[in-house]
Amino acid sequence: MEKVLVEKTASRGIAVAPVYLYLDPDLSFGTEKISKEQVQEELDKFTQAKTAVVEELTVLAQQNEIFAAHLEIAGDFMLQDGVESKVKNDLKNVQQAISETIEEFAVIFESMDDEYMKERAADVKDIGKRLLAGTKHVKLPDLGGITEPVIVVARDMYPSDTVKINPSLVKGIITEEGGVTSHVSILAKSMGIPTLVGVKGILSKVSDGETICMNAGEGVIVVQPDEEILNEYKAQKEAYEAEKARLESLRNTPAVTKEGKRIYLCANVGNLKDIKNALVMNIDGVGLFRSEFLYMQNTHFPTEEEQFKVYKEAAQLSSQELTIRTLDIGGDKELSYYEFEKEENPFLGWRAIRISLDMKEMFKEQLRAILRASAFGHVRIMFPMIISMEELKEAKAIVQECKEELKERGEAFDENIETGMMIETPASVILADEFAKEADFFSIGTNDLTQYILAVDRGNKKIADRYDYFHPAVVKAIGQVIEAGHKEGIKVGMCGEMAGDQKAVKLLLDLGLDEFSMSAGSIDYVREQILSGN
Ligand code: PEP
Ligand code: MG
Repeated sequence: MEKVLVEKTASRGIAVAPVYLYLDPDLSFGTEKISKEQVQEELDKFTQAKTAVVEELTVLAQQNEIFAAHLEIAGDFMLQDGVESKVKNDLKNVQQAISETIEEFAVIFESMDDEYMKERAADVKDIGKRLLAGTKHVKLPDLGGITEPVIVVARDMYPSDTVKINPSLVKGIITEEGGVTSHVSILAKSMGIPTLVGVKGILSKVSDGETICMNAGEGVIVVQPDEEILNEYKAQKEAYEAEKARLESLRNTPAVTKEGKRIYLCANVGNLKDIKNALVMNIDGVGLFRSEFLYMQNTHFPTEEEQFKVYKEAAQLSSQELTIRTLDIGGDKELSYYEFEKEENPFLGWRAIRISLDMKEMFKEQLRAILRASAFGHVRIMFPMIISMEELKEAKAIVQECKEELKERGEAFDENIETGMMIETPASVILADEFAKEADFFSIGTNDLTQYILAVDRGNKKIADRYDYFHPAVVKAIGQVIEAGHKEGIKVGMCGEMAGDQKAVKLLLDLGLDEFSMSAGSIDYVREQILSGN
């Protein structure tokens, strides 16, 4: 028996089942140069493989929107150019040309600081694998063929693998690579499959068909379990599932505290799919729409029209409230199409509202899109990283300018749209009483607030134990902000990770927090905590 401990959980749950080793076929290739006469033949192989991949992806895109992005990558002229030039100019065979071009593409994504964008490299590699298999006429393994309950163990899983999963047979997923924001993690979470990713060395520890146990919530895998452990995990699994069913049964109960205060439970989202996933949890709206993902997954600054389409649908989906945070780029989030100057301290640098105020026309494109969407639902505008009253007033004045422009154009919008701000800088805490007179709502961003109050980098693993939102200084700041907001009669929410932490619920309720906004997976747990009053 061996216990493997894993740091990060992608999707909670417990599983006991035989291993299904899911390994890629041999897609290796030679590296010998081709002759000039072979160039056309190699290019034809690429065209054929690409046509087949595009056809396949077109079908998949109708089932799952992830593949719309794949389709775009497959049709990207840079991919085409990259392969063609390597075949024509460097006389590389088509497989080597594909592999190298895909690698170049993937490296661009992997080198981004943002965890989410890093994971997009998997999409690129997925396409590379399909193209290689196509040129070699090799069939890729298919998870759709599983007929018995299993735990799938793989090096990595691509989006196209995960959509074929039947959640009633795939009881668990373990991968050697990948992160918690990868597609496999997101999809596994939405399907409720216990999943652990980035488990180094797991492939050499398990063999096909042997039964293993996993508790994804606790990050434990047991290889070659004895009878006692097997029974223990089976009992744990039953208890976990009963608890899950109980939590789900509470979804129609409004979150009202023992004292009778109605608490709003909202979701943090980055796209429309996240909203759809969160709706199942019976949310009170979206407390944080991270609009930067719209910019990051693009080849250019999205236009007013492009943004309007997304915000409008988001407003229609999140029936009760949609809080759109204006662009929060910079810090660790970059754009592939815009060169940011290298900075000594990016988190203290040109980011968020600072960029929006400096790039006014770009900011206005976004604001007009948000305003127009406000004709289709209860939309709120939220500014990130505010440190001064001047910034807040300037941002609000630009909203006003946009309103005038829309009026002239005859476009509909909510004249009384609320404009609020994130409280994520020490300055905004200290001046909260003044800000509360000017802002329509506050949302406390504990992710940044903790790093700025404690001077502890939120992404630095070496000092992760010092990054603590239960630190008395952070807790005191939260209390002050809530008090300042309530004094002026405005609602105070929280959209940092602390809002989704069960252990923080009682404390935040005692401090008077009105709205908790978190990733969808935490909502059931926080609701239960509020109802039970523990
Ligand atoms: C925060 O800082 O708490 C927050 C919600 O914003 P982000 O994590 O996107 O910086
Ligand atoms: Mg923040």
